[in-house]
Amino acid sequence: MIKRVFELIRAERDKQDKKWGANAIRTVGPDSRMCILAEEVGEAAEVVNRMRDEGVDLTSELRKELIQVAAVAVAWLEKIEFDCIPYCPICGVILDGPIPCSHCWAICGYCPTCCSILSKEKKQ
Ligand SMILES: [Zn+2]
Ligand SMILES: [Zn+2]
Repeated sequence: MIKRVFELIRAERDKQDKKWGANAIRTVGPDSRMCILAEEVGEAAEVVNRMRDEGVDLTSELRKELIQVAAVAVAWLEKIEFDCIPYCPICGVILDGPIPCSHCWAICGYCPTCCSILSKEKKQ
């Protein structure tokens, strides 16, 4: 069940990227990100209020809003992780920090495997 929830959030993240461009939420400042997140939380709160005031079951609507809240939070976390943890932009493996790569012996920013593939491609 947990896996299904993560899949729903992932699908919503992909939808966001398609709608606003792959890096949209990652390129805006923290203020704007908080506005977007608060807006989504506000929409979820509105559904909760309607459920209470109108006595109707809007669970499926609430579910949709909560997925959006989670997806916006995930997008923000993706940005923070990207800034804090150096990882290979090709395969996504986490690097041991800005230390020389064991393939090219420079701080190339790639893992040794991708670095060697890249240098082979360059030579061709
Ligand atoms: Zn790599
Ligand atoms: Zn390298």
